[in-house]
Amino acid sequence: MKVNSLAAVWEAIAKAMKAEVSVDTFNRWFRDIRLVELDEKNLTLEVPNNIYQLWIESNYLGMLRTAVLVELGGERTICFALAGSAESPAPNPPAAANATPSETEETAPAESAAPRAAATATSTGMNPRNTFESFVVGTNNEYAHAACLAVSNAPGKTYNPLFIYGGVGLGKTHLMQAIGQATLARKRTSKVVYITSETFTNDFIDAIQNNALIKFRKRYRQADVLLIDDIQFLADKGRTQEEFFHTFNTLFDGHKQIVLSSDRPPNEIANLETRLVSRFEWGLTAELQPPDVETRVAILRKKAASMEVRLSNEIIEFLANRIRTNVRRLEGALMRVGSYASLNEGILPSIEKVEHLLKDLLQEEARRAITIDQIKDRVAEYYDVRLADMTSKRRPANIAFPRQIAMYLARELTKTSLSEIGEAFGGRDHGTVLHAHRLVKDRMRTDDKTRQVVSFLDQQLSR
Ligand code: ADP
Ligand code: MG
Repeated sequence: MKVNSLAAVWEAIAKAMKAEVSVDTFNRWFRDIRLVELDEKNLTLEVPNNIYQLWIESNYLGMLRTAVLVELGGERTICFALAGSAESPAPNPPAAANATPSETEETAPAESAAPRAAATATSTGMNPRNTFESFVVGTNNEYAHAACLAVSNAPGKTYNPLFIYGGVGLGKTHLMQAIGQATLARKRTSKVVYITSETFTNDFIDAIQNNALIKFRKRYRQADVLLIDDIQFLADKGRTQEEFFHTFNTLFDGHKQIVLSSDRPPNEIANLETRLVSRFEWGLTAELQPPDVETRVAILRKKAASMEVRLSNEIIEFLANRIRTNVRRLEGALMRVGSYASLNEGILPSIEKVEHLLKDLLQEEARRAITIDQIKDRVAEYYDVRLADMTSKRRPANIAFPRQIAMYLARELTKTSLSEIGEAFGGRDHGTVLHAHRLVKDRMRTDDKTRQVVSFLDQQLSR
């Protein structure tokens, strides 16, 4: 496409973006972008540096996709190219073999396979940055990491299925895609399918509507390695579960590798058929936990190096101490600090400034530190019942309902598992907690008063 018309297309997309974001955001992140390539499949944007890409990908990709869809009347994969890079923009640029290891990178091995520049979602739907090389191993994730490595070295031959679970932003998707990409790197012809359970569900529904079940089944059942992310979204989807059950059996019987991820262990996924739960437990289940402080520092160093952001030890320590529960948030913090520096001729912000830049992230982080005891206290106080009633076996409605509300909040606001919550509420089992959660959720839908109370307690606790 001609340069002129590319500029015009970008102008239209940019205009749509302008309507969605603040002037400040637009000027900071979109004004300096150029559209450099456009075809039926891909749309490539040229950005001044890595941080733009990372920032846009993590904050504005959905918006950008919508704008593209509206302006072009069809979807495109959004790719990025770095301004001034010698390589012509390509959707999947080759790995930068000559990446110079930076001085700040002490703990991690050199990133050889991980493309550092302008990597973006490829035709496989996987992010080329999610490799084993770019993954920092700590005590919180070494078991899961080892299991993933073993699986990628011998798909279908070691742990099958491999089930990875853990909270948001702890590296589930990263590890799964690392398996996929390592498998492909070893054998380009392998059929690796990476998909979220939501996409699987949507594809399945489309296939039914379009009489295309045969094609759908072929796609999944002929995979050598099937990676299904966020399997918890299959909850309540009976027909999709049934379909997936058969997919699973076909692959398993054919000694093909299956890897699943979820935010909780198989037996805690609500409304998942028991036959699926038991199959998910056939192989190996590995948990990802939040990183400890050393690992957080190592992650920050490695990411800073790959983003070419130079940070002081003071800032690294500040970030590692204040952001504890979620690696994605750690990355987000780093990008903000990095973007501040890149807009200020490389001058790093003061700690006060960092605190200001990260205000919302730090608040979110504090929110996650809510304990079950705080929840019990607050709920008991609100309903004017005794704290002991939160754990007692007594079941009159004036006690049972507050207790159920507290269990609901415990599940929503903490990272505790269902069984642990049950334990904390007087040795109840995980089914009771699940029941309470569902009951309160339903009640919130039908009863304004309940919804108001829950959101009031939620706000109080999150302050
Ligand atoms: P999840 O799927 O568990 O929600 P992701 O895999 O998307 O989390 O990880 C969130 C972000 O944090 C990603 O950018 C990922 O690359 C990064 N990340 C998570 N864990 C690590 C790690 N141990 N080392 C390096 N990066 C990590
Ligand atoms: Mg994920």
